Order: sequence, then structure tokens, then C-alpha cells
Amino acid sequence: MAVQQQVNKFIQGIGASPGIIIGRAYLVERFKVRLPQKRIDPPQVEGEVKRFHNAIAESQDQLTEIKEKILDPEVRKHSFILDVHVMILNDEMLVQDTVDTIRKKKVNAEWALDLTLEKLDAAFNAIEDEYLRERRSDLHYVAARIFRNLLGKKHDDITKIKGKVIVVAHDLSPADTLQVNLNHVAGFITDIGGKVSHTAILSRSLGIPAVVGLEVATSLINGGDPLIIDGETGEVVINPTEEVSQSFLERKRRTKSIDREILKYASLPAETRDGVRVRLQANIEMVEEISSAKMHGAEGIGLYRTEILYLNRKDLPTEEEHFQIYRRLVENIYPATATIRTLDIGGDKFLPDYSKNDELNPALGLRAIRFSLKEPEIFKTQLRGILRASVHGKLRILFPMISGIEEIRQAKAILEEVKKGLAKAKIPFDQRIQIGAMIEIPSASDIADILAKEVDFFSIGTNDLIQYALAVDRINEHVSYLYQPLHPAVLRIIRGVVQSAHQVGIPVAICGEMASEPTYALILLGLGLDEFSMNPVSIPKVKKVLRMSRFEETRSLVEQLFQFPTASEIECFVRNWMAKRFPEGFIQCYAEELKA
Ligand code: PEP
Ligand code: MG
Repeated sequence: MAVQQQVNKFIQGIGASPGIIIGRAYLVERFKVRLPQKRIDPPQVEGEVKRFHNAIAESQDQLTEIKEKILDPEVRKHSFILDVHVMILNDEMLVQDTVDTIRKKKVNAEWALDLTLEKLDAAFNAIEDEYLRERRSDLHYVAARIFRNLLGKKHDDITKIKGKVIVVAHDLSPADTLQVNLNHVAGFITDIGGKVSHTAILSRSLGIPAVVGLEVATSLINGGDPLIIDGETGEVVINPTEEVSQSFLERKRRTKSIDREILKYASLPAETRDGVRVRLQANIEMVEEISSAKMHGAEGIGLYRTEILYLNRKDLPTEEEHFQIYRRLVENIYPATATIRTLDIGGDKFLPDYSKNDELNPALGLRAIRFSLKEPEIFKTQLRGILRASVHGKLRILFPMISGIEEIRQAKAILEEVKKGLAKAKIPFDQRIQIGAMIEIPSASDIADILAKEVDFFSIGTNDLIQYALAVDRINEHVSYLYQPLHPAVLRIIRGVVQSAHQVGIPVAICGEMASEPTYALILLGLGLDEFSMNPVSIPKVKKVLRMSRFEETRSLVEQLFQFPTASEIECFVRNWMAKRFPEGFIQCYAEELKA
């Protein structure tokens, strides 16, 4: 029950989709259905089973209808989630177990379904992984729908929203978010969820500001309360005063004009004042993103993640599908180069039927190159597609999660075998195609000197490298304070990798998120990185900071960083350095990156 609120109540969540919005709360009550638990007499059993089946059928019809009604193409892209929900709805275990319980225990359908959920939850509880936790919430969204249908309750309040509101919910199911009328929703805030929850992902792609993981939003906020949300910082203010609203509006104006100003840098070269030129490239997952990459000034694709080709489908992509997609990629980015990373499945992304969904520790499990080497036919199909596309533009191959020399040699041997097959069949491909290794496991960075002799380039994946070097799950909010890109260990690792690579004359790229933060980009430049790849939107701001700096000063900055024993001292030093170096430039816009 929400309580009367004082003014200017600040609550802190996780910024999930950037943007500042001031508006009124629209409270969505979800998952608060009281479930009746009744014992039934034997003659009622089959009637109860039928009532359960009817609720399933009704749920399926509703999901199908929601899907059909989605007209916005951007929203449509996400509607596969509804197919997943229909699959869960018809899941053997969910349905049969509930029916068996009704029959054996002689209880009503609500109670029986609740017991089934308890069992399934116990299985999920053994797993820490955030991605899998999201799959558990899918199960609960589906169950909540069945419960509501059993109880004859309505679901569709969210579609009836009028005016322009900020939707406040304990959690929003994908079905909820997909149904929302974008003309009426200015923002989302939820009690639970992290940066990779459905609401977060969808809000980002729709450009709707969102804050998740607020924990207490639905208990503190009343429907109609005035709110401010900042989807960048994760701040929410309930009942703001005029003064506080004005300060957020000022922040919003500043961010907007900064964005416009920064975009001017997109078309300029990424060159420091003392003439050091680096290559800024884009990380993308879909060929459709190339126009955004070009618009933001990318000089090539430094990381094309190929997982999306394999996800949300029952079969595997064919060689022809691979070829057609990679061909479009290289043709569209030509004359620049595209770096295609082979399948990096596992960890937080699974292939139905193949990946070991039951791994207790998937981040250390059968993922990425390990999976490809274990399933060589799947690997070869992808390599053939890549090689065939290689004559249509410029491309290079990147192998993910290399942990040792054997893996890179095995991957190369399979590539050679595929090349031979193509040559025999007289199918053209780039004979001298370059290959690279992702450096994202400490064992690979430790042997970078010998690994460098095996490949044409390195690409440092700091997202995983930091996770594995510091033993900090990259998506676990409970340990996010330990996820420190400026940890002395991380800086030493990067320095060592660059030195080893340069000794044998191969370039080093970085394709982790770290490259997209201007402050970190300066440090990475000082550490000697040759290429930077990042989300397209960040390219102009990184260009700007590089163009305002001198390579020599970044080298001496880095030298000084190695004097400090802790990440916080390094961060503090860098913050002060930036404040002095860019008194009215970068520090104001990007102070958020290095919060104390
Ligand atoms: C990385 O680990 O830094 C990386 C770029 O790969 P991904 O985020 O896809 O694991
Ligand atoms: Mg990685």
C-alpha cells in the first residue's frame, strides 16, 4: 500500500535507458493476486482439469492477440519473447505436473499450479546467472497470466493508459511492455530488474527513459504522483519541488546540447593534437546498425557479434544464411573492414538443444570457442559463410574466449580445412584472411607473447577480462562495486598484452565497453592501444576527447597511474587530472563515469 509522500523523496535505482523525464506516475499492480487454495471432491476433478486447460487456451489467445496488434516495427523486433511465452505455456512439465497434482492431491487448479511453480523455482534457485533469472521471470509472467485467467481478472490496464505517464510497476512482463502505447508512456520504472532485463533492453531500443531495480518504487509511489526520472543516473524523485524540477530540466537541456555538439565530431578524424591517429570502430550485432555506425563516424566494424543469428530459433543458421548476412555486412561497410567474431554462445546466451543449459557456472563453462571446437560442424558452417563473404569486401575473423595456444591452433586448423574444401570446390575466398584472438581470459593475457605469434591481431574484451581477472560477475549488481576497469591488475594486464603484441608487430584493438568512456579511452590510448571499437553512439564523444588531447600527455598520465596500489586512488587521481585538463570541457559532461 503506497503511503502519503513527502516532497523531494529521492530513490536510487539502476539507470536502464538514458533520458530525463518529468511526469505523473501510472501505477501498475501486478502479481498481487490472492490465490484461493481449495480441496475438491473426486467428481469435480475433471472439471477442474478442464478449467485449467481453458485458462491455458485463453492465455495463448491473449498472447497471440497482443502479438498481432503490435504495429510499431521497432517493438515488433522484440515480439519473439511472446513466442517464448507461448512455448512456456505449453510446456509439458508445467501443464502435466499441474494436471497430475489436481488429480492426485484433489486440489483446485490455482493451488496445483502454485505447487508446480514452487518445484520449478527450486530448480531455478540453484542458478545464480542473471540471464537465467530472467528466464525464471518469464515463467512467472506466464503463470501470472494463467492465474488471472483462472480467476477471471483483467490484464489489459496498461493498454488503456491515457495522457503521458511514467509507468511504475513492481515488474513489467515483456507482454506488458510490448503492449504499451508509446504515445502515452514517457518512461518506465520498476522495483526489480537489472540492465539486461526485458524492460531495460526494450526501453533502450525504443529510446524511452527507464530506471529499474528501485526495490521500493511501488510501495512509495501513489498513482498520479509527480515524478522525475533520470534513466542515465538511475535517480528517481517523488513529488519534486519546482526548484528540483528546474535543476533536472537544466540537466536535460545541457545533455541535449552536449549531444548535438558532440555529434559534430563524428565526421572528423580520430587524431590527437600531436598527430597520433587511431581507428575508432563500431560494435554491432545487426547489419541494420551499419547506418548508425557510419552516422556516428565509425571507421569500420571492430566487433560483429554473431550470436543473434543463432538465437530465438529452433534450427541452426545455414551456410547460405551466414554468407548472405556477412556479405551484406562487408559490402555495406566497404572500403572499411568488418571484424566478424565467431559464435560466442554460452555464458549468458544459450542455443536450444546444444548448449548445456544446466551448467552451474556457465561463465566458466562450455562457451564461445570451446563450444565451436566441440561442435566442429556448426563451426565449419559459420567459417564457410565468413570465407565466402570475404571476397565481397574486407573482413577479418576474431575467435572469442581463447584461453590457450591449443585452442587457437585447433581453430586455425579447422579454418585451414574449410579453406581447402572451398578451394577444391573452386569457391573464391580471401586466401590471406586475417585472424585475431579475443583477449578476455587472464591465461591468454599471460601468454600474450606466444599467442601473438599465432595471430594477426588481438582484440581485448574488457567486459569479460575484468570479470575473469577480478572474479566479479559482470552482470551481478551485488558485486558491481568491485567491477573496476581501473583496477591496477586490469591496467597491468592491458599494458602487458600491448607490449607483447607490439614486440611481434601485431596491432591491439579493444572492443569492451571500457573503450566507450572518454576518460578510459585516454588511458587506453596512453597504454598503447591501436584500435578502439565501441557502441556507435559513443564514437563522437571519444573522438572529441582524443582530438582535444596529446598522445604524450596520455602516456605520462598512464605512467603516473601505475604508482597507485588501489583502484580508488587511481580513479581519484584520474578524476582530478580530468578536472584540471578539461576545466570546462569533458569533466562536466562525463563526470558520471567516474563517480566517487
Ligand atoms: C568483451 O567481453 O569485452 C566483449 C566485447 O565481448 P562480449 O561483451 O560479447 O562478451
Ligand atoms: Mg566477451
